[in-house]
Amino acid sequence: MMRRKIAGQVSLEDLARICPIISRRGHPEFEECRQLEVEVAGVRFGAGVPVVIAGPCAVESEQQTMDLARSVRAAGADMLRGGAYKPRTSPHDFQGLGLDGLKILRAASDETGLPLVTEVMDVRLVGLVAEYADMLQIGSRNMQNYPLLVEAGRSGKPVLLKRGMAASLCEWLGAAEYIANEGNLKIVLCERGIKTHAASEYSRYLLDLNVIQAAHEETFLPIIVDPSHATGVAAAVESAGRAAIEFGSDGLIIEVSNYGVEAGVPRPLCDADQAISPATLRRIVAFIRNREGTSEAAAAATIAGVSGPNR
Ligand code: PEP
Ligand code: MN
Repeated sequence: MMRRKIAGQVSLEDLARICPIISRRGHPEFEECRQLEVEVAGVRFGAGVPVVIAGPCAVESEQQTMDLARSVRAAGADMLRGGAYKPRTSPHDFQGLGLDGLKILRAASDETGLPLVTEVMDVRLVGLVAEYADMLQIGSRNMQNYPLLVEAGRSGKPVLLKRGMAASLCEWLGAAEYIANEGNLKIVLCERGIKTHAASEYSRYLLDLNVIQAAHEETFLPIIVDPSHATGVAAAVESAGRAAIEFGSDGLIIEVSNYGVEAGVPRPLCDADQAISPATLRRIVAFIRNREGTSEAAAAATIAGVSGPNR
């Protein structure tokens, strides 16, 4: 019996039509081995060495952000993360410091020399956030906010595109195509955990490690992993991050806090349970740096479906 295609459903076979710009197919220059390098203020994604982005979930105060930026730099992070505009489940929860948060983040980035990625949720704020950030983050909840993707593409800034929590690979790459279609190929994909029947039983999300290889096979764009949101618990972040690297991830984005480490640091207002300490971050960075040039690193590149000079 012939399998009927369900109307509106997209599958990997449709990729060359849905995203001709970012698909490997039809791009002989990226066939098999090469990956696009995406540079963010001197930090290079997809250049063979995993990039580590770290910082708070949300900017809560100048002191918290400055101290933490210094801590993550000392732990070996390559870039700073932190939200000034937060997508919260309840409108009664802390929503972020907005413009004040952007200013604090910019100061922390300038002082530490760590390029900054921060989320933009509102199409009207893309210009403003782009003035302060080195890289725009499109969050999971906005992955299919097409006007926002177009505007982020037009900004010309590098974009970190998180996977929608229920998005197929095809839908995710289709979203990336909207950015690319504006002439902006500076896109890094980010797997951050997906909703499944199993995950909701014992955790909020399920970390989809398989998608790393699949994404590498379908597109030349780099892909990183967020083990913080994917697991939701600090105790799981280190192993999830290491696993992602073993699966060929081009980097990690991790939430960190000095709560419980330094006296007087308040519990984070946002995602406190998943924040790791700077000491744990340092171990993750050491794991990555120690395996560079080893057979494990080469194996991860092969698992990812690509090998060669840029891997
Ligand atoms: C975040 O990184 O701060 C965030 C809210 O992530 P996500 O969009 O993946 O939930
Ligand atoms: Mn968070």
